Parts: sequence; structure tokens; C-alpha cells
Amino acid sequence: MVWTNRSPHTPCAGGRHTKCADYYGVRTQQVTSSEVISTFSRYVIGNYTRYPVCLTRGEGSYVWDTEGNRYLDLFPGWGCGLLGHCPERVVKAVQDQVARLIHVPNTWYTESQGALAKALSERTTFDGRAFFCNSGTEANEAAIKLARLNGQGTGANGADRYKIVTMLNSFHGRTMGSLSATAQPKYHQGVGPMLPGFQYAPFGDLDAVSKLIDSQTIALMVEPIQGEGGVNLPPNGYLEGLRELCDRYKLLLILDEVQTGMGRTGKWYTHQHWNVKPDIITLAKAVAGGVALGGLLARPEVAEKLKPGTHAATFGGNPLACAAALATIETIEADNLLERAIRIGRTFSNHFEALKSKCPHIREVRAKGAMIGVQLAVDGTPVVTECLKRKLLVNCTHQTVIRLLPALNITDEQIAEGCSVLEEALLSLK
Ligand SMILES: *Cc1c(COP(=O)(O)O)cnc(C)c1O
Repeated sequence: MVWTNRSPHTPCAGGRHTKCADYYGVRTQQVTSSEVISTFSRYVIGNYTRYPVCLTRGEGSYVWDTEGNRYLDLFPGWGCGLLGHCPERVVKAVQDQVARLIHVPNTWYTESQGALAKALSERTTFDGRAFFCNSGTEANEAAIKLARLNGQGTGANGADRYKIVTMLNSFHGRTMGSLSATAQPKYHQGVGPMLPGFQYAPFGDLDAVSKLIDSQTIALMVEPIQGEGGVNLPPNGYLEGLRELCDRYKLLLILDEVQTGMGRTGKWYTHQHWNVKPDIITLAKAVAGGVALGGLLARPEVAEKLKPGTHAATFGGNPLACAAALATIETIEADNLLERAIRIGRTFSNHFEALKSKCPHIREVRAKGAMIGVQLAVDGTPVVTECLKRKLLVNCTHQTVIRLLPALNITDEQIAEGCSVLEEALLSLK
């Protein structure tokens, strides 16, 4: 039986709809990618550019489509698949948890939320206190509100400080607050006006930041390594310089670690590569090994302004997501994946550096652990297409940067396989 041809039944007001149980029940015949795609074109809003492939199953760095084709995934879950697809401990933790308690509101205590907050905090150097939500943009919304709450009555003559300086080419999310913090005009198009109080400085330019600070500024907000903006590493002294500005003007330093956090670059939190202590960090993407979870960690004196009534998230810190996150941390530690991240970065960098002489389109290779960007002199979209033809999944960001966020448990053989396909694709560029 084919899902789209199920015999309809008619229990709801005037409608004929297919039985959902047939979808998650046992199927006798697989649907094809094209059937799924036609369902999408009829029922799903077209706000994403999708590849014409329907994925059904994943294991580690491999993923399969409905036709049974296998792909090597160097960008699992858009950075959420830190441990690849369906990591064993996460699967087990979710299976155990889902049968006991899926969700209860934050009017109750749950063991896993407390344990996760403790685990995340113990890995900070600033005694972080946690708030949990479900996504990166929500984590940044919480940080923006927390900064503003901390700015109440702290300006000249007891005025509120509310302005936040963020960086050009940043990405902080799609909801109106985080979007206003995101300094990329293409994301603002058609949905203005933005939230007042955000000012933008070029990434890496301390003078520009310091010129924007005034008596109403409460915080500086930055990704320690810009992700969507093209895997841009901070220049020497930059993060430390931002900390000094914060100390001088009594501002909060908010680090958006949504993409860089959780061991991605070889430290639990990427800012730990530098000598800098933030006031707030935000997390999401990889935190729960692919399950939706976001959150922030803030210094206790800052965190205490988030009092009952000031902020909330219904699903935030639910037992299922927290169990998945705890299993993720356990896996990273048990399998030594922080060290592994550094090795992965070196292997890919060496490969692309060596390729430079053969491929004039490669301008620069930027990497920190398992966060790798290959800056091209030309549009990178054809590289992604060529890779897909060869069953390799990679990403192109900021037009000209091939971005890889491989799983930390990717094998050496898989890295070699990925590099050789990418080499072919890069050499095929005109
Ligand atoms: C992906 C990302 C976000 C937004 O996360 P969502 O879960 O999509 O809302 C925010 N900040 C950074 C640095 C990101 O990479």
C-alpha cells in the first residue's frame, strides 16, 4: 500500500483524510521520493530550498533515501548531528525516557533537567546557571531579554540600558529579536521594521565596536566563530578585546555558541580556546545529539534577573530532550571526542591546503576542530550539486564557502572518502 493512495476515512468535519496510523505503522511497500515530494508540493509551505531526495534512515555519518541510496553526510543535521545519525547512547536514553515521562511543565522539578544544568555548568569556567528552551533563536531571545533585564535602571540618571552591539555577517536566528541581532540585510528583507536597539560592527573590528557603545548600551553579542557568515575565526585578541570593552563600560558579553558549542571545535565551548570569560552563552543545535533543545548559561549575578514571570518556554528542558543531551555529553566524554574533533579539523585542513595548488578556486581554508570552511573565489553552489551527484552531503554558506560540520565520530576512512569526492567536485569547477 502506498501512503498517498490510502483509502480515506471521514471522521472530521466535512473532510476526508488519510489515516495517520498507516504512516507510522508497518508498511508493506515503501513510498518513493517523488511521491513524498508531490505531497510536499500540495501540503507543505515552500519556504525551504530542498534537494529532491527523501531521507529515511541514518547511522553515524551515513544516511539513506527511500530508494535505498546511501549518502556520506559531512553536514549531519545542519550541525545538530554532532554524533552523527542515531547515536547509540542518545537513542537508548530517549527510548528509556519516552516510556517513563515525555513532558511535564516547568511548574515541576524533573531530575534530568537538573542533571543537565549541572553537567553543562561544570564544563563552563564561569559557574553558569541554565535556562532551557528548544532552539537557537529562542536561546538568543532569552539572552537578549536577560541582557535588557540586567540593564534596567543602570543607565545615566537611572535610565534603562537596552542597546546591544552585534557583528556584521552574524547569524543569531529567525524570530524578531534574534533576527534584529542578525546583521545580514538579506534576512531582514520584507519583514521590517526590526526591533530597536541593535547596532552592528564589522566582525573583528574592536574600534568599530567601541565607537558604537553609548550610555544606553548593555551588551555585546558575538559568535566566537561565525558559522552561517562563512566560518570566520576571530582575529587574535578580538574576543579578549571585547571582554575588556565589557569590563570598561559595564556591559555583558553574550557569546552565541549555538553552532560552536558542545565540543564541536574541540573544547566544550569554543570560547575556551581563548582567554575570555563570557557573561552569557547560548546553545542549541548539537546539545542533545539531534533532539531539539536550546538554552543559555549565565553568570549567577546576571542569571538572577530572570525571575518568575519574566520568561518561559513550555517545552523548555523537557525530560526527553534533557535525557538526550545527557547521553550526548556522556558519549563525547566516553569516546574522547573533544580530542577527536581537533584531529578531524587537522585532517580536513591538511587535505584542502594540499589541494590549493591543484585547485586555483580555493582561496583559504578556515577550520577549528570539526568546523571547517573552504573559502572559494567563486560560487560554491555547483560544488554542493556535484557532491550530491556523488552521494556526498556538504553545505555552502555565504555564497562562496563550502562548510563541513562532520560528526565527531566520523571514521578516518569516511574522512578520506569525503575528501576524495570533494576533491573531484572542486576540480570539476570551471
Ligand atoms: C543555527 C544558529 C542559530 C539559530 O538556531 P535555530 O535553532 O535555527 O533557531 C543561532 N545562532 C547560530 C550561531 C546558529 O548557527
